Amino acid sequence: LNEKKDSISESKEIPIIAIKDLSFKYDNESVLENISLQINKGQKVAILGATGSGKSTLLSLLIRLYDDYEGTIQIGGKDIRSYSYNTIRNYITYVPQNPLLLNDSIKNNITLCNDKFSEEDIIRAAKQAEIHDFITLLPDDYNTIIGDRGCNLSGGQQQGISLTRAFIKDSPILLIDEGTAALDPELESNVMSNIINNMNDKTMIIVSHKISTVLNADYIYVFNDGKIIESGNPKELWQRNGYFRSMANLQNIKL
Ligand code: ATP
Ligand code: MG
Repeated sequence: LNEKKDSISESKEIPIIAIKDLSFKYDNESVLENISLQINKGQKVAILGATGSGKSTLLSLLIRLYDDYEGTIQIGGKDIRSYSYNTIRNYITYVPQNPLLLNDSIKNNITLCNDKFSEEDIIRAAKQAEIHDFITLLPDDYNTIIGDRGCNLSGGQQQGISLTRAFIKDSPILLIDEGTAALDPELESNVMSNIINNMNDKTMIIVSHKISTVLNADYIYVFNDGKIIESGNPKELWQRNGYFRSMANLQNIKL
């Protein structure tokens, strides 16, 4: 009953995510300064920016890791601090920059021990994350124990398991923080297409350093030193001759 009262409105008239004048500090160091942005339901938004510019911090505020910021963050027109952690967790799927894996079976790592998922669900999601073939080669396939924090797996394989969680969980908002960065270029491109093709109805924020990963975004924000220094669709940013264009040049990408 509580959950129902707490549910998140998806009215088309209000942006699904609205951030206004957001500023945040860890200890005394200012990390985000006066960030304002709005994301409509179903929009695919990318965040680019230098190391340490505050990208991961912004995502951590969206999942309520910290509440002590200035300004407001609204989801569905209401302050996120008015929702329970449970509501936020069900509504938002977050793929962190460093996968958090448990010393448990691959299956439990994918489902997080939630038994509502069938074997079929698990395999479908693992295929979309392009990790199924690898899993079937393991001694106990989906029942193989992956070691402390996934230490028996490569970085890309750990990321594959972490992404499988995103494909299996059906939530309206998806936040991916460098979620495909450890994959080789071919795998990365396949997984990105699977994300776009299978989760097209979701609202997404994708943080990446790779221009190729953000070319299909509806809108891109460029962060520098905790501030938004550029924003627009890929074409607009290309024409603007700023950070996006110089990153594209470095990565040999032309629009
Ligand atoms: P990257 O591209 O390297 O992932 P980022 O844009 O995601 O960088 P953040 O992780 O948001 O950057 O970090 C922004 C700033 O906040 C950095 O200066 C970092 O040192 C600092 N920072 C991050 N997490 C913490 C923390 N838990 N405590 C204190 N400072 C932190
Ligand atoms: Mg980061």
